[in-house]
Amino acid sequence: MASQFSSKSAGSSLADLPKSNVFTSKLPPDPAFETPASSHSAPRQTLGPRLVKGALYTFVRPEPAEEPELLGISPRAMEDLGLQSGEEQTAEFRELVSGNKFYWDEEKGGIYPWAQCYGGWQFGVWAGQLGDGRAISLFESINPETKTRYELQLKGAGRTPYSRFADGQAVLRSSIREYIVSEALNALGVPTTRALSLTLLPKSKVLRERIEPGAIVARFAESWLRIGTFDLLHARGDRDTIRKVATFLAEDVFQGWESLPAAVPLGKDQSTAAVDNPSRGVSRDEIQEHQGVEENRFTRLYREIARRNAKTVAAWQAYGFMNGVLNTDNTSLYGLSIDYGPFAFMDNFDPQYTPNHDDHFLRYCYKNQPSIIWWNLVRLGECLGELLGAGRDVDKEDFVKDGLTEESAETAVKHAEKLIERTGEEFRTVFLNEYKRLMGRRLGLKTQKESDFQELFSEMLDTLEALELDFNHFFRRLSKLSLAKIETEEDRKAVAPIFFHIEGFGGIGYTEDSAKDRIAKWLNSWRLRILEDWGTDHDAERQRAMEAVNPNFVARGWILDEVIERVERKGDREILGRVMQMALNPFEDEWGLDKDEEERFCGDVPRFKRAMMCSCSS
Ligand code: AMP
Ligand code: MG
Repeated sequence: MASQFSSKSAGSSLADLPKSNVFTSKLPPDPAFETPASSHSAPRQTLGPRLVKGALYTFVRPEPAEEPELLGISPRAMEDLGLQSGEEQTAEFRELVSGNKFYWDEEKGGIYPWAQCYGGWQFGVWAGQLGDGRAISLFESINPETKTRYELQLKGAGRTPYSRFADGQAVLRSSIREYIVSEALNALGVPTTRALSLTLLPKSKVLRERIEPGAIVARFAESWLRIGTFDLLHARGDRDTIRKVATFLAEDVFQGWESLPAAVPLGKDQSTAAVDNPSRGVSRDEIQEHQGVEENRFTRLYREIARRNAKTVAAWQAYGFMNGVLNTDNTSLYGLSIDYGPFAFMDNFDPQYTPNHDDHFLRYCYKNQPSIIWWNLVRLGECLGELLGAGRDVDKEDFVKDGLTEESAETAVKHAEKLIERTGEEFRTVFLNEYKRLMGRRLGLKTQKESDFQELFSEMLDTLEALELDFNHFFRRLSKLSLAKIETEEDRKAVAPIFFHIEGFGGIGYTEDSAKDRIAKWLNSWRLRILEDWGTDHDAERQRAMEAVNPNFVARGWILDEVIERVERKGDREILGRVMQMALNPFEDEWGLDKDEEERFCGDVPRFKRAMMCSCSS
């Protein structure tokens, strides 16, 4: 197996790792299989596709895997879960991550695996019940040191009641992509679901456009709940369960109601600082009234979800990442990047770019991501609408039992609309603050100035777009540029080509001279801002600060394609370990692995492999 690394803390064995099943013990199961035993005694094929109502999940075991081959693990994931390094060599680990083991038996009980039920809006259209069609959760792990609880699940582990017309499997190709990008995004500091391991199922034959090998990614997250979870309950008018799931989220996924943003008066006296730094510690019953619209605890929960997603989408924009299919079932309530299909990192900067081959209207293209996430959050607002709109009556017995009356409905709807609108302002503010913070950091700035947005960010992006230059390379090359080299106009023009591709630049209407001119002009604005923030004697420090946030290695489409090709067709296993190590340490200059390969992967993207697209088939 490809390279292993020792983890910092000792960690525990899989057997000793504390495990829980808070999710299945607090939320309602599929009424057709109310207990693990009833599911376990049912033939596997009876757990196939059907409609499941009034439930958050179905108990369902993974399909046994024949001769699974562990292809790789993420050492960082092992560490974060609290597993000791070397544990991946054990039969127990290999059986677990391939779906051949779970911690339950008929006599002693334990934790039975489950698949979640949810729905979703896909490309703006209501799609009905979806659910974990090929993902099966095994248990929640608790890191003994950090106490962080993660739900560990296998993607590609067989059919479930939520598989609809599909086979419950995942192909090796898409599994490699998810395995690497999950860990790559995490290393960049972008909130994401994680990947522990990649297992090949050599005996499987999965039919997509062609027959392909199947695989399983063992992945984990603080929560796999999605906006689509609420969408389905809302579509079915299941008020009780909506309230239950919202309460579960606040109390068992987040750190309790008190940890959510305090009720903040917005409106006339709205201050950005107040919005972005809400004081914590508001008691459960504390309700603040503003302009006649009250924020109860469910509104604060809604705001927390919106704020988290605002920060995550800001990080996508700042690092040029696109999910590719931002349906509500792929939008996490915990604010994680989730469900990796036709995702990509930006090569040449192009705001209209989408990696999704089937997205003909560019609904999920780069520049639309923030507004699409907000669109999804409005759907969530509608699901929670009655809880938001009820204000301080939210715990009154009549309301809990029967909901709004005809008289109370009109005001409640108005209130809910107002609260959603106000959360929209907050989403925008949090998004912009985070985007500016990350972009400022990527450009080496220590302070923020009003004029940065226009003069530095926008002008830089317009230049990259106009000259068809690479987004992430630009930041890395800028990090390494010393101010001494760009003191005069002549100097700046002379260094401008470091941002070019091997074959030069693209775009229409530029000559070599005017292209260099445009870059030189921007470099001067940037240089002056750096001098303002750092003075003249700290350039080495500034360069180090920039290198620590601007990756040298980016998990780009063309690299993932090469990895897939080599693993699948050439039987190469080592490449996976090397690319994982680069993905986990993206800010290094070199990794001591394979120098030529490192340089190739971090260098200019081969001309015809830029801005690749994928289909949704996975
Ligand atoms: P996605 O486009 O990956 O977000 O998937 C949308 C829905 O289709 C989810 O409910 C998935 O679980 C389900 N799905 C996708 N591929 C498969 C498959 N091969 N087998 C079963 N369900 C699948
Ligand atoms: Mg999905």
